[in-house]
Amino acid sequence: MNLFDVYPLYNVTPVSAEGMVVTDDKGKEYWDFYGGHAVISIGHSHPHYIKRLKAQLDQIGFYSNAVKNPLQEQLAQKLGVLSDCPDYNLFLCNSGAEANENALKIASFQTGKSRIIAFKNGFHGRTSAAVAATDNASINAPINQQQKVTIVPLDQLETFQKEIEKGDVCAVILEAIQGVGGLDEPTTAFYQNVARLCKANQVILIADEVQSGFGRSGKFFAFQHHGIQPDVISIAKGMGNGFPVGGVLIHNDIPAKYGMLGTTFGGNHLACTATLAVLEVLEQENLISNAERIGKYFFEKAAMFPQVTKIKGRGLMLGLEFDFEVGELRKKLIYDHRIFTGGAKNKKVLRILPALNIKEAQIDIFFNALKKALR
Ligand code: PLP
Repeated sequence: MNLFDVYPLYNVTPVSAEGMVVTDDKGKEYWDFYGGHAVISIGHSHPHYIKRLKAQLDQIGFYSNAVKNPLQEQLAQKLGVLSDCPDYNLFLCNSGAEANENALKIASFQTGKSRIIAFKNGFHGRTSAAVAATDNASINAPINQQQKVTIVPLDQLETFQKEIEKGDVCAVILEAIQGVGGLDEPTTAFYQNVARLCKANQVILIADEVQSGFGRSGKFFAFQHHGIQPDVISIAKGMGNGFPVGGVLIHNDIPAKYGMLGTTFGGNHLACTATLAVLEVLEQENLISNAERIGKYFFEKAAMFPQVTKIKGRGLMLGLEFDFEVGELRKKLIYDHRIFTGGAKNKKVLRILPALNIKEAQIDIFFNALKKALR
């Protein structure tokens, strides 16, 4: 059997990794400034993470949600405190797409409506809102054809208001910092108006924090830069540092009912342990303030490059925009300088998403390589 060929691949085969360094099958080392789409939050093979997962595997790896799993309660407790979201309840699943799918389902149940508003260049996984990710609706068409998605531009309040006031909208889904799209952000005024209009029209506001959450932006959640409170928050990626896990934080105002949501694998013992280990390392090593501090250092260094037309993002969710497409630059960085970076839907943006324990010296390594690659 062959693999279903949906990914263009770089010719690199990682076989081991530690911290920010990935080693391939020929023993070559690469600096990981991308973390496999913002997944590696505490560094590859962090010793605390490995110790916790090995110990859990020796006990029990999985049982279904038909029985009690105290790890889920421990996780909800710790997450509520560290994220400063004590007024939410946690539902665990396995990925970002699944988290958003559940968030949209909750919105539909809660409001009895079905239309979704998403934003241009947003990305929410291969979900009902997936049409938001692409101009080619036939590739990422909504799964449920009854659930229509309307795409509006960021920061155009009048267009947004006209749509939400039509009365048939169940959810607005928004990234505080666009990941796949290319690091665009709503202004605080726009985000606050979106939140206000959601309340006024009984529409559920979903903050998609799948990529920007778990400290990456320099706050636990990126929406916290804007002083708003969403009804539902979706999480995944950095949450498990590579273990597949996702979740939805649902505000206390939305009641739970038996059978409303469900999953076979979600919240299993290993997934909870991986997430608890990530939270413990974030806390013990002060990684959220490190993300904020190193992000500022990155901005200072990037400002010295005349080729960079825009420095985008916050904390360690970063993008450099050039006045050319970055495909060739990424190839040079990976093959000539052994540095992993990311691309975006905006092809002029180079995405930088390193582990949150990165140091200044490693940022210097990146910029030294970038200088040579740009020659
Ligand atoms: N939401 C956002 C903001 C994302 O960036 C992604 C993935 O890139 C997803 C959702 C989908 O997550 P997953 O690939 O885990 O389904």
